[in-house]
Amino acid sequence: MVYDYLIVGAGAAGLSLAYHISREPRLAGKTVLLLEPEVKDQNDRTWSFWTDKPTLFDEIAIRTWRKAAFRAPGFEQVFDLGRYRYLTIRGLDFYQFVKQKLAGNVQFTRLKISVESLENEASDVVARAEGGREFRARYAFDSRPPQFAPRPDRHRYLLQHFVGWEVETDQDVFDPEVVEFMDFRGPQHHEPRFIYVLPFTARRALVEYTLFSATRLPKADYENAIRDYLAGTRGVGNYRITAEETGDIPMSDHPLPARAGPRILNLGTRAGRAKPSTGYAFARIQAHSARLVAALAATGQPPADATGDQWQFRLFDTLLLDIMQRRGETVRDIFRELFERNPVERIFQFLNEETSWADNLRVMNSVTPGPFMRSIAQVLRGRPGQRQG
Ligand SMILES: Cc1cc2nc3c(=O)[nH]c(=O)nc-3n(C[C@H](O)[C@H](O)[C@H](O)COP(=O)(O)OP(=O)(O)OC[C@H]3O[C@@H](n4cnc5c(N)ncnc54)[C@H](O)[C@@H]3O)c2cc1C
Repeated sequence: MVYDYLIVGAGAAGLSLAYHISREPRLAGKTVLLLEPEVKDQNDRTWSFWTDKPTLFDEIAIRTWRKAAFRAPGFEQVFDLGRYRYLTIRGLDFYQFVKQKLAGNVQFTRLKISVESLENEASDVVARAEGGREFRARYAFDSRPPQFAPRPDRHRYLLQHFVGWEVETDQDVFDPEVVEFMDFRGPQHHEPRFIYVLPFTARRALVEYTLFSATRLPKADYENAIRDYLAGTRGVGNYRITAEETGDIPMSDHPLPARAGPRILNLGTRAGRAKPSTGYAFARIQAHSARLVAALAATGQPPADATGDQWQFRLFDTLLLDIMQRRGETVRDIFRELFERNPVERIFQFLNEETSWADNLRVMNSVTPGPFMRSIAQVLRGRPGQRQG
């Protein structure tokens, strides 16, 4: 059998695409094969993002906030998010929600299997999987983690790495209305380090210690920073850790193409959907799925420009990565200036890559130009900036 669409990997991107396809009446006759080696029955991550539109997953959001705080030495503010909402979805809720929505839909077949290779052929794609099995489809959408040989002479390679504890306290400690978006008041150690808090109630919150840098820390360093924040900043003596989240999200300007030949399209992290300068990916994955499905429904083919990314935002990402790599200690000041000098709606719109040229200029004019000018020089030379001393 030749399927219409083969989706490799049923994580955030694979399941999002499947769900978007299932909701498009013009694709109701298409057959879809999902190949995924894991059972996906663990809450392996929590996705948060901001949006000014309804989403397909609003009903499974565990919490929505309308206010966020930014804190750095010399500047602290709680912002009303205006037309934006900040939402959180648990990974397990998402996996189960999509699974349940696809159950009973004869369009979809799901197999628990690992894919070893994908190849474009003249009129279809062949997937070779474990146990020598082969599957064919007209188009394949590949969300396996990207694999590439780093080129540090050409590109920038950092990680957003973090450990988060979900904690319960005996007293009211957190303001459940306000997400602590970035709290930069702790020591920076020459790299951007901040605390991020999702307050579910006054006594229950996810508290994460997050860094943008090249390598992970020993686990105890993250844990000590969370303990210091709870005891020092929040004055909490007694708390129970009810869950833990750890992760590292690649932050790089290494090219991650959205296509691998005429019939293979990449998805998710593999297609560069984790924004290089922030690591946020979930909302970009939804936009990508919607774009692919709209083109498939209208023309029968994926769009020629698979992502619609605009070069100026890639350049901003590269510049910020270059500064992080070269002079990480200045990043806290860049974020402080951004939040001090722009309405939060403009910052969110800019990070969503939806701002006009005029607003991009306003954002760039709000930050001290020196570090950006030096990174522009690095970009023009074609060489990433390296830390000096
Ligand atoms: C802990 C954590 C927290 C995050 N939090 C946020 C957040 O708050 N907001 C945000 O916007 N982004 C967040 N991200 C970033 C991003 O949204 C996630 O990494 C997201 O899951 C990426 O989607 P994906 O489909 O590319 O990868 P995944 O969701 O990891 O899915 C890839 C799938 O491919 C499968 N696979 C692997 N190898 C094979 C193979 N050989 N054959 C078939 N299938 C295979 C895997 O089992 C997996 O199910 C977070 C990431 C992590 C790790």
